[in-house]
Amino acid sequence: MDALTKESRTDPCTVFDVVIIGAGFSGIYMLHRMVNLGLKVQLLEEASGAGGTWHWNRYPGARCDIECMEYSYSFSERLQQEWKWTHKYSSQPEILEYAKHVVERFSLSKFIALDSRVATASYDENGSTWDIEIETGQRYHARYCIMATGTLSTVNVPTFPGLESYRGDCYLTGRWPEAGVDFTGKRVGIIGTGSTAIQVIPMIAKEAGHLAVFQRPANYSIPARNRPLSAEEVAMVKANYLSIRAAARASRGGTAAAVLPTQSAFAVSDEERYLEYEQRWRNGGLSFLAAYTDIASDDSANETAAEFVRQQIRKIVSNPTTAELLSPKDTIGCKRLCLDTEYFETFNRDNVTLVDIQQAPINRFVETGIETPAGLFQLDAIVFAMGFDAMTGALLASDIKGKSGRALRDKWSDGPRAYLGLLSEGFPNMFTVTGPGSPSVLSNMMTSIEQHVDWITKCIQFIEASGMSAIDADLEAEDDWMDHVEEVASKTLRYGCNSWYLGANIEGKKRIFMPYAGGVSTYAEKCAKIASEGYRGFTIT
Ligand code: NAP
Repeated sequence: MDALTKESRTDPCTVFDVVIIGAGFSGIYMLHRMVNLGLKVQLLEEASGAGGTWHWNRYPGARCDIECMEYSYSFSERLQQEWKWTHKYSSQPEILEYAKHVVERFSLSKFIALDSRVATASYDENGSTWDIEIETGQRYHARYCIMATGTLSTVNVPTFPGLESYRGDCYLTGRWPEAGVDFTGKRVGIIGTGSTAIQVIPMIAKEAGHLAVFQRPANYSIPARNRPLSAEEVAMVKANYLSIRAAARASRGGTAAAVLPTQSAFAVSDEERYLEYEQRWRNGGLSFLAAYTDIASDDSANETAAEFVRQQIRKIVSNPTTAELLSPKDTIGCKRLCLDTEYFETFNRDNVTLVDIQQAPINRFVETGIETPAGLFQLDAIVFAMGFDAMTGALLASDIKGKSGRALRDKWSDGPRAYLGLLSEGFPNMFTVTGPGSPSVLSNMMTSIEQHVDWITKCIQFIEASGMSAIDADLEAEDDWMDHVEEVASKTLRYGCNSWYLGANIEGKKRIFMPYAGGVSTYAEKCAKIASEGYRGFTIT
């Protein structure tokens, strides 16, 4: 570390040991670990505050669909004991408050530069350093550049014909105004019916004069059954946090709450199966899909769960045509399952209309609203809940150039490539937290974030202790890993679907299954083994 400190002294304003990009949960924990190592660190954050996804997605109804006592850091026993979560699934304001609390608690604010959007990052092979420039022109040099830019952070921006002519108000759920929006009495339209829209639609419907929901294919959603946490259950979790966190790390999805299925959907009678689904529907939550071993791998088993959900929709929604339109026809769990609070019930309100833009797509936007084959919808405000350029969007948003000036955008033009989802060959010392090729979005992000940050921290310690300056992935190891990622994914039903996991929601994006579907514990074991074997598959120079 001495060499780094000396280097830092030559230009205290701009030279750092480590630059971290992004102040979401990944960046905050990464920063904490780097500060504790005694390294000189700068964190650059595009937003006006820390919190990442919870800073931007402040639309009404936003909340996490992983139980918050698990969707939280485990690295500090005092933190997890002292923080008080109020609900099973916490709301965006509460999670944002938690993120800010962590920043303050560990005295991290002084290392964070807000309103600092990275424009370029270039690797200097002679000095083994990264030269990073933000949009204001300020430059930073660092040995290590850590991309903690998030997986669902680059908003899918609408490009409908005539959009510029629309005179009403437009809102992106992923860039919601801090001051909030008053829809009282207004004619509102919303485009999209994914996890975000399913949360915001019931909230807007309560306020708006009229809400028109523009739906492409319908999505599966399970009741969240959110509720306040009782003092007893909080005490129980806190008393057992050690084993709960260990179970989460040893699990497939990064949560201790999920109990793995043990039998096939066809090992039981139709009636027993129905009762099992009914119980899970009553309990609510993502564990609905964990009823049977083959829901994620066998079409017929999957159809039993899918049909159960369709039946519930038909029971809830009183207009049969609307119920039919709201009933998804594809594989359940292919796209990320949604959790809702009275989503389907909202379509029984007199002030809500479902517009099918799957069969009859939007023609264009006009000055007063949206024109579809079904007619003109006059709207005072339009909400775009159209998702994200997932996993690669934020990594490719900046112009990143590695060895020999090679652009990451060029290397990844046929899809992302990285060894263990941690380092992409040719881009030494640039680590990615929860990047493509790691379990990431298929897991409780907090478990995966901590595993990645801990691995990267140990790796940096190793490089420093051995007097080396750079680590890069070997092309062969990277190719083998990418083949493995694809092979594992190809055994799941998700592989053949049109979802953001494959980039299918973004026009022109190469279709490749991006996250690693082998599970959190298997993945973490592989990472640990590779490190223990002297970082096999990496070259340290
Ligand atoms: P999403 O799941 O990608 O949904 C976007 C919606 O917009 C889809 O219905 C999509 O239709 C539609 N859409 C996209 N482009 C369109 C276009 N040009 N015209 C019409 N419709 C269009 O995005 P999201 O709802 O923001 O959720 C993304 C992920 O974020 C989730 O899967 C989840 O992982 C995470 N998330 C989690 C929570 C939570 O914790 N509760 C909440 C929100 C988000 P198609 O289906 O046809 O593409």
